[in-house]
Amino acid sequence: MKRIGVSDWYILSEEERRSLREGLPIPAAMLKALFTYVDRHLSSSECDDTLRHVSEFIRANDLPPEAIVAWLERLGGYCDCEVFNAEEVLEDAVPGYRDLPPPDGFRE
Ligand SMILES: [Zn+2]
Repeated sequence: MKRIGVSDWYILSEEERRSLREGLPIPAAMLKALFTYVDRHLSSSECDDTLRHVSEFIRANDLPPEAIVAWLERLGGYCDCEVFNAEEVLEDAVPGYRDLPPPDGFRE
């Protein structure tokens, strides 16, 4: 699979952005909840170079870990503080991402 880095994001075509939207491992609103969760936890404890907070959220919400981690890594998210690379890409690929309401029934 082609790895997409933030630096070359701006040369991605509309086609590539669409395939990104169609290839999300979980709904965009749930990903947004995940990024919000990680962001909040990183402000109180430093990144330990793992996907610790990502994994906590995945477990708490019974989400598919392999699919999500593979997706994050493809977008340069190899640890908690790097997953925001993926969010940046998502924000660009999903219209209205910033205004997405939290998904129903997710646990923090
Ligand atoms: Zn990190």
